[in-house]
Order: sequence, then structure tokens, then C-alpha cells
Amino acid sequence: MTATSESIHRTLKDFFGFDSFKGEQEQVIRSLLEGKDCFVLMPTGGGKSLCYQLPALMMEGTAIVVSPLIALMKNQVDAIRGFVAGNESVAHFFNSSLNKQQMDEVKADLRSGKTKILYVAPESLAKGENVAFLKTIKVSFYAVDEAHCISEWGHDFRPEYRRIRPIVDTIGNAPIIALTATATPKVQSDILKTLGIPDALVFKSSFNRPNLYYEVKDKLDADKDIVRFIRQNPGKSGIVYCLSRRKVEEMAQFLQINGIKALPYHAGLDAKVRAENQDKFLMEDVDVIVATIAFGMGIDKPDIRFVIHYDIPKSVESYYQETGRAGRDGQEGVCITYYSYKDIQKLEKFMQGKPVAEQEIGKQLLNEVVAYAESSQCRRKLLLGYFGEDYLVDNCGLCDNCLHPKKVFDGRLEMKLVLRLILSLKEHFKLEHLAAILAGNDTAMVKSYNHDKIQYFGAGDEHSERFWAAVIHQGLIMHLMDKEIESYGLIHVTELGKQFLENPWPLNLVEDRQFSSVDTDDDDDDEMAASAAAGAMRGGGGDAQLLALLKDLRKDLAHKLGLQPWILFGDPALEDMSILYPITIEELRNCQGVGEGKAKKYGKEFVALIAKYVEENEIERPDDFVVKTTAGKSDRKIKIISQIDRRLALDDIAHNMDMDMIDLLDEIESIVSTGTKLNLNYYINTQIDDFIIDELFDWFRSESVEGTLDEALGALGSDYSETEIRLCRLKFLCEVAS
Ligand code: ADP
Ligand code: MG
Repeated sequence: MTATSESIHRTLKDFFGFDSFKGEQEQVIRSLLEGKDCFVLMPTGGGKSLCYQLPALMMEGTAIVVSPLIALMKNQVDAIRGFVAGNESVAHFFNSSLNKQQMDEVKADLRSGKTKILYVAPESLAKGENVAFLKTIKVSFYAVDEAHCISEWGHDFRPEYRRIRPIVDTIGNAPIIALTATATPKVQSDILKTLGIPDALVFKSSFNRPNLYYEVKDKLDADKDIVRFIRQNPGKSGIVYCLSRRKVEEMAQFLQINGIKALPYHAGLDAKVRAENQDKFLMEDVDVIVATIAFGMGIDKPDIRFVIHYDIPKSVESYYQETGRAGRDGQEGVCITYYSYKDIQKLEKFMQGKPVAEQEIGKQLLNEVVAYAESSQCRRKLLLGYFGEDYLVDNCGLCDNCLHPKKVFDGRLEMKLVLRLILSLKEHFKLEHLAAILAGNDTAMVKSYNHDKIQYFGAGDEHSERFWAAVIHQGLIMHLMDKEIESYGLIHVTELGKQFLENPWPLNLVEDRQFSSVDTDDDDDDEMAASAAAGAMRGGGGDAQLLALLKDLRKDLAHKLGLQPWILFGDPALEDMSILYPITIEELRNCQGVGEGKAKKYGKEFVALIAKYVEENEIERPDDFVVKTTAGKSDRKIKIISQIDRRLALDDIAHNMDMDMIDLLDEIESIVSTGTKLNLNYYINTQIDDFIIDELFDWFRSESVEGTLDEALGALGSDYSETEIRLCRLKFLCEVAS
């Protein structure tokens, strides 16, 4: 058909209400209208849907849209029906949620030609009866959304996507438009090949998200760090991603205990709860959603201000996709990832038992994650390079590595050595192998090729394998070498690399960052308990006694200086002091609104007062900051937790609180049952013999036991005292059964 620019713009305005196209939308739409196959690569939020929805409305016949997100189909269909007022038939979907009668209605509309767009889940498209039916209608074109699902190298492989091409052949030929928000060169080539559209017009927008800030942090005290970050950003929406459901639950609870409005989201939750939690996040009833990757696909919330990865994602693509949910409105978007090599090893372990090919792919993708995380190069450059895009700015100014650049060195000689090695091995080897040879590590692979015998073996043994890997990674970014797409990973020397070898020019290289190898086991329950209790201890507004002293001091000082008190430090600053107990000028600066100038000018007396107060009251200061508030905990519970935190004997606590031991145990049991972990060992160890603890633990551990208090008292009451049973049960609940 012939479509004038005018008719395309009119459709845009009349149906979608937009005045102009975004990016290359118009060119895509024109090409599709002209019957050409198209391949659209646009970052999330780029406006891919319009690229097929608009031409579908203009063309004769029905556009078949393959999309993996059944949950979102209804929304999409509703949206299109909204554009075309009063015409329910214009859009439909085929998926497993339809019953027979609904399906018949949809088919009737399709037959009558009223339906312009049909969304189809890949499973439904594969069904013989559906294929047979679709053969009978006129198809305007096929759109394959989230097209990366077709590739095993993508972050969301769906085997059914591979059947699209043969099914299209059966239903009847029409142009194909494939769309995705993430595609490495390997995935791109897979998409074109598997869909059988080698000559498709490729529309690729830049994947740069200039407003996003990227940072990778050592995974030390990540829980606390996250609380601190969120508390410094009150009222902002954010996502915290964890890999396991268990960690999601723990983290959500930990944030809640610390007064942050957070909810969990993962596939193990009841569908209703999950939907509710998502809605609350979208409606801003909660600020933070703690989620596995199941959350976020198709989430359109434009003002997500931060995305935190507590656990590093399995691939750089997933990382890009998930961080991409921040700042879709172009405003602030902070992306922080916690990294520990141990997590990589854990992910590797998860892969064991999967088919070998899948493991191979998984490992390669993980290697790239490691390279990204440990690199000292501009993160933007690394990410865009990963998608085959050059980022030519030297310092992006908005990532950790650009804000804190590492010293560079002239790596001419090192790069030459690498390039020569690659050529001498006929460009047949992968990065890790090359790095091992230069560092002189005789790995099994190296030995199996007799590469421990060649002249290059150990030629760079003054440096580590990591060093050499970093050199190669940078050579790739500089296009001196390239990774084979088909074989994925074999490294060859480019034309530019050959020129460099002949006539080397100065190269600025950086060494990778060193990350801590300290154990960061995320079962840091003790820390959680301590923090939770510390938080509880300070209640909502910090240490009231200290706050009063600080206010007096401020008044006195202000009087002396002839200034209004708030000019010294505002109330939020004093409040933070009563929570954080800073005792150095350095620490003081962690308080709200306390800059370097103020800290130096007025801070001395304040930190001196706090130091004295801390000493006199034997306050156990949190090492760097303190978590806050205990929404929903009664005053009595807070007092108990705070005393346990200070390791008072339970008898003393009972006495202080004017309770008897049984009441106190009741209260503690109720605290523990809501998820707060307490460390009672200091008391239990002085009260109960080890062997009794062991015996009781064995009992609680046994399979047949449910662990309720009544059950335990009934079964054990004749051999042990009630206090022994209850204390051990508490210990068990806090240490084992959670
Ligand atoms: P993608 O699928 O690429 O992530 P969507 O198709 O969901 O992006 O579009 C993202 C947002 O951009 C939507 O809210 C959509 O309404 C909006 N949008 C799309 N095209 C335009 C346009 N030409 N002008 C203004 N907004 C647009
Ligand atoms: Mg989309």
C-alpha cells in the first residue's frame, strides 16, 4: 500500500495522540508499510510497540504479534482498544487463559476482518489448530516482540520462539518485524538467522542511557549499605534485586524493620499477593520493591530512581535490562551493584547439572559479568561496547570509574605481546586461555594444547592472569582484536590491531579493580539481628536523651556566636547524630545536611559531647551507621530487644520490666515469630549445658516435628525444664529454622 507521510502522522495523532515520532519510529513504520522485513533494536522505553501497532491499524488484514508476556497481553490489547474507541474487535489475544467460548468469539472477529492486531503467546502459536485457523485469515505482517528470546545467548531464551519461522511458512508469508531492547552482536545474528530474515533492514538506536549512574561496590556489609542508601533517598521509588526468593524475603523484612516501606516480589508468592505488592509499588504506597528478576518485565513506571543489585546478575544483558528500569523519564537513575567473586562461584554451582552446552554459555556470560564488574574502565563504554556500540567520550562523568579514575599506564608493549600471541596461535583461542598462557599458568587446557611449551608461556609472568585478561578486554573495546560471533569467544586480531602491531601508538590502559575476597556469606543473620535490634533500640527518632543534650549544646553555641541555632545544624542533622553517634568530624559528615565546612566549623563540640555520652552510657556504637525504627513493634518489645542487644541477663530484663520469666519468654517468642532474629547465646550459654542444647536441637531438627511450643513442652516436658525448652527453641528458631 502507499502511505503518505501525512496519513502516517494523522494516524499517530488520531489514534495514539502523539505529535511526533520518537527516534526512528517513522522510518521503521514506512519500511514495514512497504512490505520489508525489519529488525528494531531500541532500548527499553524507546517506543517499540508503536512500530507495529500503528502500521497494523493502517494495513489490510491482521497483524500477528508474538509476545512472551501473557500477563501483559491483556494490558496491551486494552491499550489499543482505548486508542480505537468503541471498537472492541480491533485487538485480541490468543493465549492459554482463554476458554472455548472466548476463543470462538475471537475467531469470529478475526474472520470478519475487524481485528487489526492479534497478540499470540508463542505456545499458542505452535498449536496445530491455531495454525490451521490462522491460515484462513489475511495476515498483514508478523511482529516478534522481545525477539532476543529466540537466542540461547539472550537473557531470556524461550525454545518455542525457535518455531516461529516454520509456523510463519505454514500460515502464509508476510513481512516480519523483530523487536528487542537488548541484543549483543551474537544475539542479533541469531535473531536474523533463526527468523530467516537475513536481509531485514536494521534499525538500531543508541543503547546509551545518559541519565543512569552506574556503580559496582564491594559486597561488604551490603545490607547496611542498602539501608543507608535508601534512607538518604527518602520517598524515592526503587527496586532491590536479589537472586533467591529467600534473600528477597529476608531483605524486604530487613528494610521494613528499618522503617523503609518495602515489599517482596517473587514467583513463590501467591499470585494475588504478588499483584497486590506490584500495585502498591506502582501506586507509591510502598517505595521499594525487593524482587527476583521476575519483577520488572513490562513495568512502565517512569520514575524509578534507583535499581540496586544485591546479587550480581547472570549476564551483562540482564544487568543492562534490569538497570534500564531506572530513570525511564530521563531523570535521575542510580544503579548500584554489589559484587563478590563468591557470588559468581555460587552462580557457577547452580549451573551444574544443566546440559553441557547451556553450562558453556552460562559460563561465558558470567565471565563477561566478572570482566564488567572488575574493570576500571568507564562502565558506559563497557556496556555499550558489549552491545557493539562505540562510546567515544573519554570520561562519562556518571559512573564510579569515571568519577574515581584509576591511574593509567602506557600498555603498548603489553598489547603487542597479546596480539602476537593471538596471531601465533592462529586466532583459535579464548580470552581466558590467552591470559593463562601469558601469566604462565599451566591450566589443564593450556597443557592439553602443549601451550606450556611455547615461547609465549609465562612471557608476562610478572603480571597475573587477571592483569592479562584486563589487557585483552581493553584491546577488544579498542577494536584491536575482536571476538568471533559464530563461535563466540575465539579472539582474532582486527585490521586495526595489525596496524598497531606494525606501528604501535601509545595506549592508555588501566588495571582492574581489586575486590575484597572476604567471605560475604549472605547468611549474615547475626548482623541482621544486631542491626534490627540496634534499630529497635533507638526507636523512631533516635536517642531522645542525647538529642536533648545536642539541642542544648546548639543553643549555647549559637548564643555565643550570635547566630540562630538552625544555622549551625538543622534538626535533621541533630536527629541523625542521635542515631548515628558520630564521634569524629569525618563521621559527622554522614549526617543530613552536614557538609565539610559546617562539620569543621561547628562540629568539634558536638562530636566531643557525643563521644562522652557514648562512653558514659556504654553505648555500643554501630560501626558506621545505625538502622532505624521498628514500625509495628510495641514499646515493650523495643525495650526488650534493646536490653537483649545490651546483653542483659533475662532475669534482669524481667525484673526491669516488672514481668515474670514466663511473660518475658512469651514476649520474646512473639518478637521472634515476626521475623526478628535475636542472639540469646550470651545468656543461654550461662544457663544451659551444651549437651542439653545439643539434645534439644536434635529433637527440633527431626523431620516429624513441627516445632510448636505446645508440641515441644508436651514431648520434652518430663526431661527438661520449661525454660530450657523455650530458650533452646528460641535459639533454634533464630539460628536454624528460618
Ligand atoms: P518499549 O517497548 O520500546 O520499551 P513502549 O512501546 O512500551 O517501549 O513505549 C514506551 C513509552 O513511550 C510508552 O509510554 C509509549 O506510549 C511512549 N511512546 C511511544 N511512542 C511515542 C511517541 N512517538 N511520542 C511520545 N511517546 C511515545
Ligand atoms: Mg516493549
